[in-house]
Amino acid sequence: MGGRAQEQLTEDSQDLDQSVLLHRNLKELPPTMVREEGNYFWLEDGRKIFDAATGAAVVCMGYHNARINEALVRQIQEGPMYCPQLSYRTHIGEKYGRELINSTDGKMSLVSFYSSGSEASEASYKCAWQYHREVDKDSKRNIFIAREHSYHGNTLFALSVSGHKARRAMYEDTLAENVARVSAYNPYFKRRPYETEDQYTDRMLDELKTKFETHLGKVVAFVAEPIVGAALGCVPAAARYWKGVRALCDQHGALLLFDEVMCGMGRCGTLHAWQHPDVGVVPDIQTVGKGLGGGFPISGMLLNHRVAKAFKKGSGEFAHGHTYQGNPLGCAAGLEVLKIIEDENLLENVTRMGELLHQCLEDSIGSHPNVGYLPGKGLFRGIIFVEDKAGRQPFHPERKIATKFMDFAQREPYLLKVYAGSGSKDGYCGDHALLAPAYNITEDDVYHIVTQLTMAINDFFVLEE
Ligand code: PLP
Repeated sequence: MGGRAQEQLTEDSQDLDQSVLLHRNLKELPPTMVREEGNYFWLEDGRKIFDAATGAAVVCMGYHNARINEALVRQIQEGPMYCPQLSYRTHIGEKYGRELINSTDGKMSLVSFYSSGSEASEASYKCAWQYHREVDKDSKRNIFIAREHSYHGNTLFALSVSGHKARRAMYEDTLAENVARVSAYNPYFKRRPYETEDQYTDRMLDELKTKFETHLGKVVAFVAEPIVGAALGCVPAAARYWKGVRALCDQHGALLLFDEVMCGMGRCGTLHAWQHPDVGVVPDIQTVGKGLGGGFPISGMLLNHRVAKAFKKGSGEFAHGHTYQGNPLGCAAGLEVLKIIEDENLLENVTRMGELLHQCLEDSIGSHPNVGYLPGKGLFRGIIFVEDKAGRQPFHPERKIATKFMDFAQREPYLLKVYAGSGSKDGYCGDHALLAPAYNITEDDVYHIVTQLTMAINDFFVLEE
């Protein structure tokens, strides 16, 4: 490196040491990312890391994807690049919206685009609330039912709906109280001895039924991730559970709201997670985000016919909006992601590579004493860590096993990025590592992930003993 370039880098590094950015951890600043390509990113200290989590299930086409970059440049050159969506439409927005609606087997009919998952969550709650007022102007429905150990976003109402105790802790007193809570679906930790999976499912449904009855005629919507990502570690529920949930929502006139921000858009092998046969029910409202723009910020909310019709026939208005709503660049990135998924047959690759990944993980770490189980679908895979495998006991959360492991796995010689999810004090969920690699990974990439991960897990737990 030339003298001037080296000087510049040193100056930049000094600036970074005195960062003015409000990081999550102000005492220990995170490393600096300087480059990205395909499955890899580079840190300033020289490490080249394989990203087996694509950030947090975001960069689903790999980093610096040429087609997404070209689509963005095209949109910048041809414009519009910014469009005040509350006053105008764009061709790219209409085109992308139509493609997304077409991907729902005729089940959804309206879509709107935002910039983050939390914004999509907020819009979905307001839509659900308004739906009831559109069909009954005297509606008194004001309760949302959501699950323990769930995460739906960091804005105050999305956090109120979320049952993620650690993320709520600091703000508990300011969170909304009109959220009723039921258990998360997590049979590995919570199925009672001698209870079959069906009996466990029935118990979960009974609990939900009781909650609906406690708030009879007051429930706006039941909110859930069909496959729970960061909060539990890619844990799916039985298809019977979803059938039962759908039936209870219908019986009580409440909407079913699926948060597919993390598990949707191809991540689990079907474009929408609800299209997966192991979910198999259609929500009334659905949110999408993260992988939607392959790393470019865009999120969305989709409404089924019933909800769309209520708005169209009712007030004809959704009094909600954000400055960057429906951003044309986000729509261009999102449209290109859809095209790549189709052109490269990526849903099939996600399913095939997901099965291979699962099998290889079972073979290499399935019997490790600190690996409880390996849930997931498609390329959305959790590795649930336990202290006592026979007793299914998670580690105490204060040991911060997952966070430490995420840091450890990025060191030499492993150089692998996983996403870390922490366990909870009530033993409901364990610390976990989450894998969500790019949809276009190859068999060699799978073997690489599993080899590095196995090495890292073996070494990490020897040191942790
Ligand atoms: N919903 C789920 C399931 C998520 O995992 C997240 C983010 O992790 C969100 C909503 C919030 O999305 P964002 O961080 O883009 O606001």
